[in-house]
Amino acid sequence: MKNIRVPVSSPYIGDIEKAYVREALDAASISGVFGEFIGKFEESFATFCEVNYGVSCSNGTTAIHLALASLGIKEGDEVLVSSLTNMATFFAVLYTGARPVPVDIDLQTLNLDPNDLRNKITVRSKAVLVVHLFGHPADMDPIMDLARSSSLRVIEDCAEAHGALYRGRKVGGIGDVGCFSFFANKVLSTGEGGMLTTNSVEIAERAKNLKALAFGRENKFMHSDIGFNYRMTNLQAAIGCAQIEQADKHVNKRREIARYYRQNMAHLSEFYYFPTELDYAKSVYWMFHLVLRPEYVTYRSKIMTELELRGVETREGFIPYNLQNIFISKGWVHPEDCPRAASVAYASFYLPSGPVISQSQQDFVIDALTSVMSIIST
Ligand SMILES: *Cc1c(COP(=O)(O)O)cnc(C)c1O
Repeated sequence: MKNIRVPVSSPYIGDIEKAYVREALDAASISGVFGEFIGKFEESFATFCEVNYGVSCSNGTTAIHLALASLGIKEGDEVLVSSLTNMATFFAVLYTGARPVPVDIDLQTLNLDPNDLRNKITVRSKAVLVVHLFGHPADMDPIMDLARSSSLRVIEDCAEAHGALYRGRKVGGIGDVGCFSFFANKVLSTGEGGMLTTNSVEIAERAKNLKALAFGRENKFMHSDIGFNYRMTNLQAAIGCAQIEQADKHVNKRREIARYYRQNMAHLSEFYYFPTELDYAKSVYWMFHLVLRPEYVTYRSKIMTELELRGVETREGFIPYNLQNIFISKGWVHPEDCPRAASVAYASFYLPSGPVISQSQQDFVIDALTSVMSIIST
């Protein structure tokens, strides 16, 4: 057993969560078809995201697949995707048979770079899949302009960005569809779960139909399409209803964690780039993510091991699509396709940042990192 004193993230489960799950259990409403919490969660989440419709589903990966399928993305199409992300974003594109094309990142935000997007658009491009990585929104205005002029649909992967703002607008309602995850470590959580957000009634209706086996309208068992079973259960929706009631508290907590780390780690800035928040953004700081400066990159695994010995759990940053061996070996991508994404692939890790971390735990993390860095730099 590892001696972890400060885990990377533990979910928040309060009295309201327990009461609502209890209510669902008492009513024996546990499925993804029967039960009042599903509709309530979809409505309250749509309100939170300032969109017309929310469509719940089983997780963030299926939310992205459902979004692409609802937009009619298929074999032969190309989807432009920010290279640095959880590979779930790319897998969802591959499920449709379309070809994902990685787009390089902006090094300040680690999000899709609109200039590289322009370079990678071809006649086969049908959609752009933007990721608001680590809770910081991507620069949507130039992305939306390019998408409009090239007739691309826009999907926002908001799995790490519940409540983030771009120029005062909530993410998830800026493109055609937003996709959220409620995995246990996300800003709002139901254990496993996902949601699609949209202002389009057509997309919402199509997603609702596809996520539940595409039953026929007149004759239920004369199916209208090859459907999926991507339903969320009523028990998860019950937890979601509780989480959304306190969404602002959860978002503010994440921001406060980041503020406290940044304020008390200024002495470590010779080693690290800290997460930024650009003028146009309100970030929700999903995780406090550190990027080592070039001269210290080779020490990452030593730093992480030393932190673990002191009881502080950390996690490596994502490895981008253009460095994934399975795709390189198929000849689908080359490491040099996105050099900036490659440059941070092995340079980053994140600190404990979950919703229940205390200030004294944060102090413990800061002290541990300070002591580790003093070993590294001598
Ligand atoms: C977590 C995550 C996903 C996948 O969500 P799941 O609920 O785990 O399927 C997709 N994209 C990003 C950016 C994520 O962080």
